[in-house]
Amino acid sequence: MSSFDRINNTYFNYINGEWIASESNKTEASTNPAKMDEVVGYFQKSTQGDLNKAVSSAKQAQQQWKKLTGNVRGDFLLKTASILESRVDEVAETMTKEMGKTFPEAKGETLRGVAILRYYAGEGLRSVGDVIPSTDSEALMFTTRAPLGVVGVITPWNFPVAIPIWKMAPALIYGNTVVIKPASETAVTCAKIIDCFASAGMPAGTVNMVTGSGSVIGQGLAEHPDVNGITFTGSNTVGKKIGQAALARGAKYQLEMGGKNPVIVAEDADLDLAVEATISGGLRSTGQKCTATSRVIIQSKVYEVFKEKLLAKVKEITVGDGMQEGIWMGPCANKNQLDTVLSYIEKGKLEGAALLYGGNRLQDGNTGSGYFAEPTVFENVNTNMVIAQEEIFGPVLVLMKVESIEEALSLANDVEYGLSASIFTTNISNMLSFINEMDAGLVRINAESAGVELQAPFGGMKQSSSHSREQGRAAIEFYTSIKTVFVK
Ligand code: NAD
Repeated sequence: MSSFDRINNTYFNYINGEWIASESNKTEASTNPAKMDEVVGYFQKSTQGDLNKAVSSAKQAQQQWKKLTGNVRGDFLLKTASILESRVDEVAETMTKEMGKTFPEAKGETLRGVAILRYYAGEGLRSVGDVIPSTDSEALMFTTRAPLGVVGVITPWNFPVAIPIWKMAPALIYGNTVVIKPASETAVTCAKIIDCFASAGMPAGTVNMVTGSGSVIGQGLAEHPDVNGITFTGSNTVGKKIGQAALARGAKYQLEMGGKNPVIVAEDADLDLAVEATISGGLRSTGQKCTATSRVIIQSKVYEVFKEKLLAKVKEITVGDGMQEGIWMGPCANKNQLDTVLSYIEKGKLEGAALLYGGNRLQDGNTGSGYFAEPTVFENVNTNMVIAQEEIFGPVLVLMKVESIEEALSLANDVEYGLSASIFTTNISNMLSFINEMDAGLVRINAESAGVELQAPFGGMKQSSSHSREQGRAAIEFYTSIKTVFVK
């Protein structure tokens, strides 16, 4: 059976090397946020029974998979990468239709997925341990790495190709098998990625996908006694539940969650560069990146000039269906997300922030049939306001005026999150203060807050993460356990 029933536009679960329907016989629709009445595809509304089958097949397959050498496992990832690369336009189009980001962005993300697979294929041939001098002259002591076993992967809709791949590729290369539960909004995109793994000939049971609700399949994965590690990216509310469920049964877990990321614009900054990066970091992907710029903290001397330059550029933003050429910003990914954004805008107004631009749902012509919000800018925002503290996850920027860099840093740190942060400055002392004082897992100088490179560690401080790191070589820390070996 293929991944897809063309007649009914329905995608299946992938369990033990086969595409199969859920035992529930029920499906759900994945719809296009730019055209509410367009169904992209139907996916399985799975049950605990489906999940149990997937976990059991992953558990069995892991016994053989872990015995393969790293380069053999790497070859499977290389084949998957080539297949995904050959399907880049199709996968990117599905992504745009399911969650709204523009087609060029979706294509860039899909190619990033290809690059991540190739990077982790190479990991199969890199060293995994250290030789440590023993106090016994006749002994050899070293460390090696053991896979966790079955890894449960729970992913959000905002990077529906990159996040599943940056979790699955390292899990697999280090000898684990995988059961993924993607976000329902992007279940079809995920089915297409899994189809690339399947077409690469991955042994049955090494990669499994079960779609369905978070509270049944996601929570079921977190609680399953045969799932040895859980890796999650998504909201803090859900992440905490998953962490508690994993902790309760002694499973390893990794949570990557929200952000409220600042950019500081110093009075010596290149203002045009800062404006470009603030708009790109804050509003690209409709502000729906965990690393999106949300708070813009500007030194008073350049505040007015920066504000005018920013507003001039924001006004040029074209909003519409991400499949259309010339569109820079797509819709919010679903109705719930649009309602959340609009409710934060109302809260901002009620709290006394000044709305400089935007603030409304867009509902005419090109945007009438989707979940579109205007790019929105507030000023006169103080740090205690809800819009300065909570993650909005939409196209909303708040401007805050400060006198000094010390004040800027104190404001930048005055939130519960610590994912990413930027500063625009030409002054080396400002740069060093920022590097030393900023409580964030990713600090960027003269670059937007939303840039992530696949070969470098990624993750947050404070409430943004469970304090582990993903991507780059750092991934080995989560997906393996260290084994210390003593040979006499
Ligand atoms: P979400 O937490 O609603 O959903 C994430 C995943 O969890 C989905 O697959 C969902 O079905 C599942 N889920 C929902 N309820 C569950 C439950 N009770 N038990 C187990 N799983 C459950 O998040 P979202 O709306 O899809 O994504 C947006 C959030 O993701 C934002 O907060 C954003 O900051 C965060 N995010 C973080 C990063 C990062 O790396 N730090 C990256 C991207 C997105």
